[in-house]
Amino acid sequence: MFSFLILQCVVHAAPARLPSFHTCVGANEERLTPKWYKEHGIEVVLGTRVKSADVRRKTLLTAMGETISYKFLIIATGARALKLEEFGVKGSDSENVCYLRDLADANRIVDVMHSSAGGNAVVIGGGYIGMECAASLVISKINVTMVFPEDHCMARLFTPKIAAYYEEYYMAKGVKFIKGTVLSSFDIDSNGKVTAVLLRDGTRLPADMVVVGIGIRPNTSLFEGQLTLEKGGIKVNGKMQSSNSSVYAVGDVAAFPVKLFSETRRLEHVDSARKSARHAVSAIMEPEKTGDFDYLPFFYSRVFTLSWQFYGDNVGEAIHFGDFGGSKFGAFWVSKGQLVGSFLEGGTKEEYEAIAKATRLKPVIEDTAELETLGLEFALAVSQTPVQAPPQPTEVRGPSLILEKPLYVWHATAGVIVAASVAAFALWYGRKRRRW
Ligand code: NAD
Repeated sequence: MFSFLILQCVVHAAPARLPSFHTCVGANEERLTPKWYKEHGIEVVLGTRVKSADVRRKTLLTAMGETISYKFLIIATGARALKLEEFGVKGSDSENVCYLRDLADANRIVDVMHSSAGGNAVVIGGGYIGMECAASLVISKINVTMVFPEDHCMARLFTPKIAAYYEEYYMAKGVKFIKGTVLSSFDIDSNGKVTAVLLRDGTRLPADMVVVGIGIRPNTSLFEGQLTLEKGGIKVNGKMQSSNSSVYAVGDVAAFPVKLFSETRRLEHVDSARKSARHAVSAIMEPEKTGDFDYLPFFYSRVFTLSWQFYGDNVGEAIHFGDFGGSKFGAFWVSKGQLVGSFLEGGTKEEYEAIAKATRLKPVIEDTAELETLGLEFALAVSQTPVQAPPQPTEVRGPSLILEKPLYVWHATAGVIVAASVAAFALWYGRKRRRW
């Protein structure tokens, strides 16, 4: 019925084979093999680079000189890995310097890992790639040193206390951390191979391989000057529709309104990519049935035997809970008196669902000390709070419950949104527990 074109940078043709990596390829989903596309009537054009786009004429020009017309265009161009050269350091093209963005990168890392067995790896960057690669490398018996400019790992998300837990865990596995500095140059031998990493603080680290994970930039260049950009990505509305009504954007490249926070965000995560893609297709195919995208930001990672999930926003005051000396702990973020973000390490499926639901409900928090004491129990109980029909759509305070202004799509179907105040909840919970 519709002719629409999906612009993607990479179509994975072979399975990745990263050792000791927890990847999410095809997790709980159908595997998107060439056969799958064929069976679903989707023509996949591989090996073709789009050289330019004309959104006014609704055409794309390929590097081979072919013009492709569309009725709807979905931009899913993702992002590119930032290169060291963008920070004034040369050497990205050395054979033992690795990035991790696509299948070719993944295969290359595996090859370089094999030829570096028992040797030294320097991991540049303390974000997702840095942490996940460092774990995989050390499991593969390679000595790992991580280098990053911040005071602690995963600085975009973790609090210092959460980061300390993971850093200690990594150190116990043999990973070394050099924080608060960046690399200044490489020692490169006559074969073009990096032999050492020189840091700005004067440290020289011998290296058999280097993994670089210093962030990404969305691939927007085809559309600059034609579509409105925001937060480094293509600005879209709640239907994932850009400033040109025939053009949609999804995934890392899309800056979309996060209803829950009344803010435009660009989220770099597979879950957001999958759900925003589904939403764009639904908005195109069934416009009258498709509301605005109502996404709860979600991030997760699994390294060694650890596993964490995060929902919402990490702004405001962080309230830690649980056993930081053990295996289950977390944090809530409270901003403007409401719970807006939740992190949990070592949770069960039910517990992760509970923190997700509690975060979505944005309960009012009147007593953060109480929240700290209750910890995960708070999320578990809030997530089970029976729903009541709200007398009006604005905030209503009852003796023990606070109804938020709400009416997000998924709640709208249930009829309501209910959130508990922590102080009132503590009272209720205390009574309930005594009955157990
Ligand atoms: P990131 O933004 O997570 O981390 C970048 C890291 O590089 C930060 O620690 C930053 O301080 C550091 N850095 C920046 N400049 C540096 C420099 N000059 N020298 C040393 N360190 C420097 O980005 P990433 O780790 O490269 O990941 C890339 C993308 O892949 C992200 O979008 C990420 O969300 C995604 N990813 C996600 C997962 C997951 O969700 N589990 C896993 C892997 C990758």
